[in-house]
Amino acid sequence: MSLIVGLTGGIGSGKTTVAGLFAELGAAIVDTDAIAHELTSARGAAMPAIVGAFGGAVLREDGSLDRARMRRLCFSDPAARKSLEAILHPLIRGESVARCRRADYAPYVLLVVPLLIESGAYREHVGRILLVDCDEARQIARVMARSALSEQEVREIIAAQASRAERLAAADDVLSNTGAPGELPMGVLALHRRYLELARRANDPGPA
Ligand code: ADP
Repeated sequence: MSLIVGLTGGIGSGKTTVAGLFAELGAAIVDTDAIAHELTSARGAAMPAIVGAFGGAVLREDGSLDRARMRRLCFSDPAARKSLEAILHPLIRGESVARCRRADYAPYVLLVVPLLIESGAYREHVGRILLVDCDEARQIARVMARSALSEQEVREIIAAQASRAERLAAADDVLSNTGAPGELPMGVLALHRRYLELARRANDPGPA
Protein backbone atom coordinates (compact mmCIF):
# COMPACT_ATOMS: atom_id res chain seq x y z
CA MET A 1 0.00 0.00 0.00
CA SER A 2 1.58 3.20 -1.13
CA LEU A 3 -0.49 6.05 0.26
CA ILE A 4 -2.24 6.25 3.61
CA VAL A 5 -4.10 9.50 4.30
CA GLY A 6 -4.94 10.12 7.96
CA LEU A 7 -8.42 11.67 8.28
CA THR A 8 -9.02 13.55 11.49
CA GLY A 9 -11.21 16.25 13.02
CA GLY A 10 -13.03 16.99 16.26
CA ILE A 11 -16.10 15.11 17.45
CA GLY A 12 -19.05 15.90 15.18
CA SER A 13 -16.89 17.65 12.60
CA GLY A 14 -18.08 15.25 9.89
CA LYS A 15 -15.32 12.60 9.60
CA THR A 16 -17.72 9.68 9.13
CA THR A 17 -19.77 11.61 6.57
CA VAL A 18 -16.64 12.59 4.64
CA ALA A 19 -15.18 9.06 4.81
CA GLY A 20 -18.43 7.76 3.26
CA LEU A 21 -18.00 10.12 0.30
CA PHE A 22 -14.39 8.98 -0.23
CA ALA A 23 -15.54 5.35 -0.07
CA GLU A 24 -18.06 6.03 -2.87
CA LEU A 25 -15.14 7.22 -5.02
CA GLY A 26 -13.16 4.02 -4.39
CA ALA A 27 -10.87 4.83 -1.46
CA ALA A 28 -10.40 2.10 1.16
CA ILE A 29 -11.57 3.22 4.61
CA VAL A 30 -10.01 2.00 7.85
CA ASP A 31 -11.92 3.55 10.76
CA THR A 32 -10.31 3.34 14.21
CA ASP A 33 -13.65 4.16 15.92
CA ALA A 34 -15.29 1.23 14.16
CA ILE A 35 -12.38 -1.00 15.22
CA ALA A 36 -12.76 0.21 18.84
CA HIS A 37 -16.46 -0.73 18.71
CA GLU A 38 -15.63 -4.19 17.38
CA LEU A 39 -12.99 -4.73 20.06
CA THR A 40 -15.48 -3.79 22.80
CA SER A 41 -18.48 -5.68 21.44
CA ALA A 42 -19.78 -8.71 23.34
CA ARG A 43 -17.09 -11.08 22.14
CA GLY A 44 -14.56 -8.39 21.27
CA ALA A 45 -10.86 -9.11 21.69
CA ALA A 46 -10.43 -6.35 24.31
CA MET A 47 -13.21 -7.52 26.62
CA PRO A 48 -11.31 -10.09 28.72
CA ALA A 49 -8.66 -7.49 29.62
CA ILE A 50 -11.29 -4.80 30.26
CA VAL A 51 -13.27 -7.05 32.60
CA GLY A 52 -9.99 -8.04 34.27
CA ALA A 53 -9.16 -4.37 34.92
CA PHE A 54 -12.60 -2.91 35.72
CA GLY A 55 -14.81 -5.86 36.68
CA GLY A 56 -18.22 -6.84 35.34
CA ALA A 57 -19.84 -3.53 36.34
CA VAL A 58 -18.71 -1.89 33.07
CA LEU A 59 -20.59 -4.47 30.98
CA ARG A 60 -24.01 -4.12 29.43
CA GLU A 61 -26.44 -7.01 29.66
CA ASP A 62 -25.31 -8.44 26.33
CA GLY A 63 -21.67 -8.54 27.48
CA SER A 64 -20.48 -5.55 25.44
CA LEU A 65 -18.78 -2.54 27.02
CA ASP A 66 -21.11 0.03 28.55
CA ARG A 67 -19.54 2.95 26.71
CA ALA A 68 -21.50 5.72 28.45
CA ARG A 69 -20.53 4.35 31.86
CA MET A 70 -16.91 3.92 30.82
CA ARG A 71 -16.79 7.47 29.44
CA ARG A 72 -18.05 8.89 32.74
CA LEU A 73 -15.55 6.78 34.68
CA CYS A 74 -12.66 7.96 32.47
CA PHE A 75 -13.62 11.63 32.86
CA SER A 76 -13.74 11.39 36.64
CA ASP A 77 -10.72 9.09 37.10
CA PRO A 78 -7.54 9.71 35.04
CA ALA A 79 -6.03 6.39 36.20
CA ALA A 80 -9.02 4.49 34.82
CA ARG A 81 -8.63 6.34 31.54
CA LYS A 82 -4.96 5.40 31.39
CA SER A 83 -5.59 1.71 32.01
CA LEU A 84 -8.39 1.60 29.43
CA GLU A 85 -6.11 3.28 26.88
CA ALA A 86 -3.28 0.87 27.72
CA ILE A 87 -5.59 -2.01 26.83
CA LEU A 88 -7.32 -0.53 23.79
CA HIS A 89 -4.76 1.60 21.97
CA PRO A 90 -2.24 -1.13 21.06
CA LEU A 91 -5.08 -3.39 19.87
CA ILE A 92 -6.64 -0.62 17.76
CA ARG A 93 -3.29 0.35 16.29
CA GLY A 94 -2.32 -3.23 15.43
CA GLU A 95 -5.66 -3.89 13.75
CA SER A 96 -5.55 -0.56 11.86
CA VAL A 97 -2.09 -1.25 10.46
CA ALA A 98 -3.12 -4.79 9.44
CA ARG A 99 -6.24 -3.48 7.66
CA CYS A 100 -4.27 -0.77 5.85
CA ARG A 101 -1.89 -3.46 4.57
CA ARG A 102 -4.78 -5.62 3.38
CA ALA A 103 -6.38 -2.70 1.50
CA ASP A 104 -4.12 -3.09 -1.54
CA TYR A 105 -7.19 -3.42 -3.80
CA ALA A 106 -7.72 0.37 -3.50
CA PRO A 107 -5.57 3.20 -4.90
CA TYR A 108 -5.09 4.64 -1.41
CA VAL A 109 -6.35 4.23 2.16
CA LEU A 110 -8.13 6.77 4.32
CA LEU A 111 -7.27 5.96 7.93
CA VAL A 112 -9.87 7.68 10.14
CA VAL A 113 -8.31 8.60 13.50
CA PRO A 114 -10.25 11.07 15.68
CA LEU A 115 -7.22 11.70 17.92
CA LEU A 116 -4.54 11.58 15.22
CA ILE A 117 -3.02 14.90 16.23
CA GLU A 118 -3.26 14.24 19.96
CA SER A 119 -1.80 10.72 19.98
CA GLY A 120 1.22 11.06 17.72
CA ALA A 121 1.31 7.25 17.42
CA TYR A 122 -0.34 7.26 14.01
CA ARG A 123 1.77 9.96 12.44
CA GLU A 124 4.46 7.51 11.32
CA HIS A 125 1.80 5.42 9.54
CA VAL A 126 0.24 8.20 7.47
CA GLY A 127 1.68 9.93 4.43
CA ARG A 128 -0.40 13.04 5.02
CA ILE A 129 -3.12 14.43 7.24
CA LEU A 130 -6.55 15.54 6.04
CA LEU A 131 -8.52 17.64 8.53
CA VAL A 132 -12.30 17.95 8.46
CA ASP A 133 -12.65 21.43 9.90
CA CYS A 134 -15.68 22.80 11.68
CA ASP A 135 -16.41 25.39 14.38
CA GLU A 136 -17.26 24.39 17.94
CA ALA A 137 -20.87 25.62 17.87
CA ARG A 138 -21.65 23.34 14.91
CA GLN A 139 -19.81 20.41 16.50
CA ILE A 140 -21.94 20.74 19.64
CA ALA A 141 -25.22 21.07 17.72
CA ARG A 142 -24.46 18.04 15.51
CA VAL A 143 -23.36 15.76 18.33
CA MET A 144 -26.38 16.68 20.48
CA ALA A 145 -28.68 16.02 17.52
CA ARG A 146 -27.27 12.52 16.94
CA SER A 147 -26.71 11.32 20.53
CA ALA A 148 -28.04 11.52 24.08
CA LEU A 149 -25.04 13.57 25.25
CA SER A 150 -25.73 16.85 27.03
CA GLU A 151 -24.14 20.11 25.92
CA GLN A 152 -21.88 19.94 28.99
CA GLU A 153 -20.70 16.42 28.06
CA VAL A 154 -19.98 17.45 24.48
CA ARG A 155 -18.06 20.49 25.73
CA GLU A 156 -15.98 18.24 28.02
CA ILE A 157 -15.12 15.95 25.12
CA ILE A 158 -14.16 18.92 22.96
CA ALA A 159 -12.02 20.41 25.75
CA ALA A 160 -10.12 17.10 26.05
CA GLN A 161 -9.31 17.13 22.31
CA ALA A 162 -6.78 19.25 20.40
CA SER A 163 -7.90 22.78 19.62
CA ARG A 164 -9.05 23.81 16.16
CA ALA A 165 -5.86 25.87 15.75
CA GLU A 166 -3.64 22.89 16.69
CA ARG A 167 -5.40 20.70 14.14
CA LEU A 168 -5.14 23.31 11.41
CA ALA A 169 -1.42 23.69 12.10
CA ALA A 170 -0.82 19.93 11.76
CA ALA A 171 -2.94 19.31 8.65
CA ASP A 172 -1.62 18.96 5.10
CA ASP A 173 -5.11 19.27 3.62
CA VAL A 174 -8.22 20.92 5.07
CA LEU A 175 -11.81 20.20 4.09
CA SER A 176 -14.24 22.73 5.54
CA ASN A 177 -17.52 21.27 6.76
CA THR A 178 -19.24 24.42 7.97
CA GLY A 179 -21.77 24.57 5.13
CA ALA A 180 -24.58 22.29 4.03
CA PRO A 181 -23.80 18.57 3.55
CA GLY A 182 -24.43 19.05 -0.18
CA GLU A 183 -21.32 21.22 -0.39
CA LEU A 184 -18.99 18.37 0.63
CA PRO A 185 -18.82 16.17 -2.51
CA MET A 186 -17.04 18.82 -4.63
CA GLY A 187 -14.25 19.24 -2.10
CA VAL A 188 -13.97 15.48 -1.59
CA LEU A 189 -13.68 14.91 -5.33
CA ALA A 190 -10.85 17.47 -5.64
CA LEU A 191 -8.96 15.79 -2.78
CA HIS A 192 -9.62 12.33 -4.23
CA ARG A 193 -8.02 13.41 -7.51
CA ARG A 194 -5.02 14.79 -5.64
CA TYR A 195 -4.60 11.53 -3.68
CA LEU A 196 -4.90 9.41 -6.85
CA GLU A 197 -2.10 11.48 -8.35
CA LEU A 198 0.07 11.19 -5.22
CA ALA A 199 -0.54 7.43 -5.07
CA ARG A 200 0.35 7.11 -8.76
CA ARG A 201 3.57 9.05 -8.25
CA ALA A 202 4.48 6.98 -5.19
CA ASN A 203 4.01 3.78 -7.22
CA ASP A 204 5.97 5.08 -10.21
CA PRO A 205 9.66 4.54 -9.56
CA GLY A 206 10.52 7.11 -12.27
CA PRO A 207 13.39 6.88 -14.74
CA ALA A 208 16.06 4.31 -13.85
P1 ADP B 1 -17.73 12.69 13.20
O1 ADP B 1 -17.55 11.34 12.53
O2 ADP B 1 -16.61 13.64 12.92
O3 ADP B 1 -18.07 12.62 14.65
P2 ADP B 1 -20.18 12.74 11.64
O4 ADP B 1 -19.81 12.57 10.21
O5 ADP B 1 -20.75 11.54 12.36
O6 ADP B 1 -18.98 13.38 12.48
O7 ADP B 1 -21.21 13.97 11.69
C1 ADP B 1 -21.84 14.31 12.94
C2 ADP B 1 -23.34 14.51 12.69
O8 ADP B 1 -23.49 15.70 11.94
C3 ADP B 1 -23.97 13.39 11.89
O9 ADP B 1 -25.27 13.18 12.38
C4 ADP B 1 -23.98 13.93 10.47
O10 ADP B 1 -25.05 13.41 9.70
C5 ADP B 1 -24.14 15.44 10.70
N1 ADP B 1 -23.45 16.26 9.69
C6 ADP B 1 -22.25 16.04 9.08
N2 ADP B 1 -21.94 17.05 8.23
C7 ADP B 1 -22.98 17.93 8.31
C8 ADP B 1 -23.25 19.20 7.67
N3 ADP B 1 -22.41 19.75 6.79
N4 ADP B 1 -24.41 19.83 8.00
C9 ADP B 1 -25.26 19.28 8.90
N5 ADP B 1 -25.07 18.10 9.54
C10 ADP B 1 -23.94 17.43 9.25
